[in-house]
Amino acid sequence: MTNKKSREDLTLDPKDWEAMRQLGHQMIDDLIDYWKNIRQEKIWKPIPAEVKAFLDQPIPAKGQDPKEVYEEFKHFIFPYNKGNVHPRFFAWIQGTGTPLGTFADLLASGMNPNTTIGEHSAMYVDRQVVNWCKQLMNFPSESSGILVSGGSMANITALTVARNSFGEEKIRQRGLKAASAQLVLYCSVETHSCIQKAAEIIGLGTDGVRKIGVNDRFEMKTDELEAQIQEDLGQGLFPFCIVGTSGTVNTGAIDPMDELLAISRKYGLWFHVDGAYGALAKLDPKYATRLKAIEEADSLAFDLHKWLYVPYEVGCTLIRDSKKHREAFAMTPNYLLQETRGLSGGPDSINNYGFELSRGFKALKIWMSIKEHGREKYAQMISQNNRQAEYLGDLVQENPQLQLMAPVSMSITCFRMVKPGLDESQLRDLNREILLRIQEEGIASPSSTILNGKYTLRVANVNQRTRMEDMDLLVREVLRIGQEIRTI
Ligand SMILES: *Cc1c(COP(=O)(O)O)cnc(C)c1O
Repeated sequence: MTNKKSREDLTLDPKDWEAMRQLGHQMIDDLIDYWKNIRQEKIWKPIPAEVKAFLDQPIPAKGQDPKEVYEEFKHFIFPYNKGNVHPRFFAWIQGTGTPLGTFADLLASGMNPNTTIGEHSAMYVDRQVVNWCKQLMNFPSESSGILVSGGSMANITALTVARNSFGEEKIRQRGLKAASAQLVLYCSVETHSCIQKAAEIIGLGTDGVRKIGVNDRFEMKTDELEAQIQEDLGQGLFPFCIVGTSGTVNTGAIDPMDELLAISRKYGLWFHVDGAYGALAKLDPKYATRLKAIEEADSLAFDLHKWLYVPYEVGCTLIRDSKKHREAFAMTPNYLLQETRGLSGGPDSINNYGFELSRGFKALKIWMSIKEHGREKYAQMISQNNRQAEYLGDLVQENPQLQLMAPVSMSITCFRMVKPGLDESQLRDLNREILLRIQEEGIASPSSTILNGKYTLRVANVNQRTRMEDMDLLVREVLRIGQEIRTI
């Protein structure tokens, strides 16, 4: 209709602001009740077929009332959550989140600043949070950093800088063909899969990744590492980077940071630390000394959605040499020109330090959370998770029906139930059945892994709601379920 009188300007804003206000209040109320009562709830529920069918419908052509949409959320989505908000969620390595962190995300999307360029508050919050990350990790104030979506992105960001900083070959301009031989990256067999993926994406290929063996504590063997570097040098290849892991995803093992640092200095290699899970264990006095050398790394990746308990998603890359960092990514197209005044003024574009252009205001949830609790409280929380894992380890070792499958390191405890007369494959079936039942009964959510070929239950605890008593309960329930299983 082009008739002027009847024309109505379209918008996506609500017609009835008061109804939207009420709905918003309802959402907050429902969330508060959810968190407050979560301990009494089942950790996980199977998703009924009708829910899956509802979530498999074609795109709606017409809209519906927001209240109805919210009712659908409450009926079909909210009850079937993954469970990592629950005090007994121990699967993979997944953080719990916090109420204020959640509300910070709400405020961040309400302000909705694209936090990449410009003169506006979010840019300064982002910068302050990156500075706080440096201070948490004791990185020099002249170093640089960027908040990204998580550990995988933080690792590939760092490895891209490492690759582009290699030698005089000008790899950024000329590509890997500029290097006359294969670049080689070293990590352990226990290294997270994202390191290999990153190496593949930045052009090293799987052939450019050497996975070094580990000792009986699952830590990289440095004599094997050095022998491999020498062999590769002898072959005329270009060793360029060592990746040490601070807290492996399987067992929480810590590669020998001092030695990796020394070897990387000896051979002139880039030293990167994947601390996605466990760099923050630095805050636990028990681990501070062993993780001290992280401070000397050329780059560090760590997650805030794991052990800072901040809601998904956010990770951080720190780079010691800010010039190398900027040189790996900086680019100023015509449509992103920076001014000294006005909205296009402001700090250096964050896009000069990473691949992603549009960025949400993910810094706000970290900013508010750190302000709410302070560094010391986080140190206590992280230490508490480590003590809980050690306590679980003690419970396992005190009980002849249970077997510890790896030394407890950081906040990961790997164990299994044993019964006399069962062979390895029966033990695997028994423990797999225990795992499935304890999850399906909604009691707790450990996960599993395979260590030295043996199936094991795996409890990884970056949970701010867990209490010591949850460890007692977990052991009790594993034993109860294990007794009930008689057919293995
Ligand atoms: C979780 C994890 C990653 C991947 O981080 P995301 O945040 O899941 O992308 C990488 N390395 C280690 C050691 C991890 O624990």
